[in-house]
Parts: sequence; C-alpha cells; structure tokens
Amino acid sequence: MQENTAIPIISQSKNQTVGPVFKFGGTSMGSIERIEHVADLCLKLKPSAIVVSAMSGETNRLISLANKILERIDVPEYDMLVASGEQVSVSLLSLALRKRGIAPMPMLAPTAGILTDAQFSRANILQVKGEAIKEALDKGLLPVIAGFQGVTEDGQLTSLGRGGSDTSAVAIAAGIGAKECIIYTDVDGVFTTDPRICSAARIIRKINYEEMLEMASQGSKVLHIRSVQLAAKWGIRLVVKNTFSNDEGTEMSTIDEPIEGEIVSGIAASQNEAWIQATCANTPQFNLSNVFDLLAKKGINVDIINQGEHNSSLKISFTITQTDSNLAMETLKKEFPNISLTLREDVAKISIVGVGMRTHAGVAARMFKTLANNGIEILLVTTSEIKVGCLILRDKVSLAVNALHEEFIPKT
Ligand code: ADP
Ligand code: ASP
Ligand code: MG
Repeated sequence: MQENTAIPIISQSKNQTVGPVFKFGGTSMGSIERIEHVADLCLKLKPSAIVVSAMSGETNRLISLANKILERIDVPEYDMLVASGEQVSVSLLSLALRKRGIAPMPMLAPTAGILTDAQFSRANILQVKGEAIKEALDKGLLPVIAGFQGVTEDGQLTSLGRGGSDTSAVAIAAGIGAKECIIYTDVDGVFTTDPRICSAARIIRKINYEEMLEMASQGSKVLHIRSVQLAAKWGIRLVVKNTFSNDEGTEMSTIDEPIEGEIVSGIAASQNEAWIQATCANTPQFNLSNVFDLLAKKGINVDIINQGEHNSSLKISFTITQTDSNLAMETLKKEFPNISLTLREDVAKISIVGVGMRTHAGVAARMFKTLANNGIEILLVTTSEIKVGCLILRDKVSLAVNALHEEFIPKT
C-alpha cells in the first residue's frame, strides 16, 4: 500500500491556448538573489501561471516551532502554520515580477480555488476551480500561486503533505487547461538515483510515468507522487528542469518500454520511514483488518506489512512514514489499551525500480546478494511488478544506493 492513490476530480478549462505552468521549489526561492533570478526566467519564458514553494528550510522551521508546543499534525492550526511559508514566497516573487514590469496576481489557495478534503497535514485536492486564475489571465495578470496549500469547503486552510507543491502545480495546470507543467528544481532532472547520494547517478531524459510514480512513492523526492498521478491522468506534459542551468531536463513519457533495454531504471531511497511492531494479548479485535482500518481512518498510509506470532499472540509489523509515527502510536494505544508497541525510526527503504523487471527473473535475488555482499541486513521486503524494496538500517543508505547503482545501472 502506498500513498492515497485517489485521483482528484478537476474542472477542465475550455480554453485550449493556456501556456505552461511553472513551479519553483524551495531552493529556487531560497534567497532574494534566487527569487530575482526566477523573476528574470519568467520574464524570458512567459509561463501562464507560477506556483511556488516556501523558501528552503522554512517549512522545516515552521514544523519545528509547532513541535515545541504540541506534536499534532492532524489539526487545522498545524496546516495554517506550515502553509504560511508559501505566502512569503508568493509575495516576494510578485514584488520581483512587478519590478520587471510584469503585473502579478498573488494568490493563496482560497483565492485560487484549490479545494481539498479536510485531512489536515495530508489533504487531497478535490478540485481546482480555475475561474479566479483564468479571470486574472484574461486581465493580462500573471498568477503567482502558493503551492502546498488548499482550502476545505468550509474555508479551513489545509496543506498537502511534504513536497506537495509539485501536486499543486499539476492540479492548477489541469484546472486552467494548460497542457504543460514544468517543475523547476535544484538538479538537472530525474536521475538514476539521488545525485546527492551517488556521484555516478546519471540523468534520465525520458522516464515512463509508471516508473516515475514508483520512484516517487519509494522516496525519490524530486517529484511528489500525486503530481505524477495527476499528470498521467490529465495528459499533462510534465517536465523537470533546473532553475539554474539550461539543461533540457527530464520529460515523463507514456512509452512502456525499458529505457535502453535496461532492467532497472532507477534506485530510490526513502529515509522518512518508521517501523512499528505491535502485539496485543487476548484481544480478538486486534487483527489486520481492524488495525489498518483504524490507521486508514486517520489518513495514515501503511507500506510494508508483516504478520506473525509472538508468545502465542498476533504480531503485526508494518512501516509508515516517520511523519506519521506519533499519530499511529497514539491511535493504536487509544484503541488497544494493553497493546505492546515498538517503534524504530533508524530505518530506511531502498528500492530498485524498472518496467524491465516485468520480463526478467532473478532481479530480487541479485539485489539481496548485493546488499549481503556489502554487509547490509534486510529487515523487511516488499515487491511489485516493477520494484523490489528492502527496509534496511538508515546508516547504510548511502552504501546501499552506491552498491545497487554499481550493480544495476550500466555506465555510459
Ligand atoms: P524542490 O525544493 O525544488 O521541490 P526537492 O528537494 O523537493 O526540491 O527535490 C529535489 C531533490 O530531490 C534533489 O536535490 C535531489 O537531492 C533529490 N532526489 C532524490 N532522488 C532523485 C532522483 N532520482 N533524481 C533527481 N533528484 C533526486
Ligand atoms: N514547502 C513544502 C515542503 O517543504 C512544500 C514543497 O516544497 O513542495 O514540503
Ligand atoms: Mg519538492
């Protein structure tokens, strides 16, 4: 099980001539100099609308402020706080555009009409009412829109989960009928693995949507998972580019062929993992169905699941994102007062991804052998048609990524 895969329903525009939506991430907005550079780029390339993230480090800073008071993420005040970083970015970029003679239309989620459900800290976009954005376009204004935010039907501000402004951008593109969305970031595009962990990583020029979805869901944070789902669903051309270089970047493609005949296209690492092991003696209600129903009702996505026995009690073991660990522990304790819980946050998930795996046997065995040869213990395993994922100790991530890259990705 992965992140919520529900595809939001988005109102499509009748206007077929809308140009691309650009999205600038935290590093691109990280200083006044960078914001001025982004404004110059927009002056030159003339997007139809711009979506921005908070300045780099800002969302982390806001979350740590909240945590100093109360570690709750499922409440409206959390979202109102963490989504505020984007407001600063919208204002600063709008000022920089105005300085260049472009008339901006700064917009937060309520004005832009980004409607979400009320799952605070992980809200799903239900609809982008593109009217206000289109009205701004008709007036010759350039909409500069806060990413990562939404608004519930009754007016509460929400946030979309870490990295969510990529999803805002694609949803806005769909909502205003744009055909293209360019995600500007701090690397040249999507690489075979995180170039910051593995210096041998190389850029992938075209990546299949399905592979990109799997890479994103396995932890390659270069694109938020729902942005890839939405782009595939709405036929939006999705491109990742570097704000600070002229590289052509990476384009998502619908071609279902392994790139250059490779079996493994990429390696993803997710360090935001938590492993919970739960036992509960003499409690018939403690079973897989009840436990996961309870977590699902809290919007917690469970990834790897394992069931076994411990001292003749049922033992349920599963992984979730670390962000959800407190909420999951509290929820289970409340429901099952005599539960025994162990939480491990020193773990990470490492995955190999590739559509070529569909037609090749023995890929998992090669992965396990490579990890074993490097002294890396495998704690849990998960597979799908196009990926194999292993839970390992977090301090082994760099070693594992580099070893698997060496094993599976041919040098050019
Ligand atoms: P932004 O602030 O622009 O949204 P992010 O930090 O969310 O940027 O995503 C870009 C980062 O994603 C890169 O700096 C890189 O370290 C990381 N990353 C992880 N996996 C990959 C990958 N396969 N290809 C490119 N970047 C990756
Ligand atoms: N600012 C938010 C975050 O840091 C959203 C984003 O960058 O996409 O998660
Ligand atoms: Mg991001």
